[in-house]
Amino acid sequence: MAVRIKLGDFQSISGDCLGRNYIGCFPRMSEDEAWQAGRGVWKMNRSRAAAERFALVAGMGKVLAVAEVEGLTQHGDRFALEGHPLTAGHPLHDAYIGRPDPLANQSQNSVTYGSLPEEGPLLIRPCACGCGQETARDFAQGHDMKAVQQRVREYFGGSVLALVRWIDSAHPRPAR
Ligand SMILES: [Zn+2]
Repeated sequence: MAVRIKLGDFQSISGDCLGRNYIGCFPRMSEDEAWQAGRGVWKMNRSRAAAERFALVAGMGKVLAVAEVEGLTQHGDRFALEGHPLTAGHPLHDAYIGRPDPLANQSQNSVTYGSLPEEGPLLIRPCACGCGQETARDFAQGHDMKAVQQRVREYFGGSVLALVRWIDSAHPRPAR
């Protein structure tokens, strides 16, 4: 599955949480410009959006940018996609850039989700726990917790508290 963002009309903005001075699309915008204009900020379901690896930014009926999503940042009640535009040579880029929006629908909502036939093989990769299984996600089902628990056993004597303290010492949090 991929997330598709549809750009509206060009408009100048100020005080933007992503530091932009415009959103929306304009003729001949570059792929980087389209990605910056489209990656936020939207009301979206956090877990749904975070599960997508690819994003299409569409405007004026065509795909203006194809990006790999690396995460989400929250801005009030909205979210921005973090990632980078894919470039020529990447199969998803070459399949969609400049072509009609493959996920076009009648909805007024800029954000929609759908599967792209080309992304299937790209999503298959070895499970990050090292078990050797192939998966379309970072981990095979349940193996994320297995990987964490294994490290808790190996490095923290089985204590989740020790892991939490170690993380907190590496990433000090503001006092509450
Ligand atoms: Zn695994």
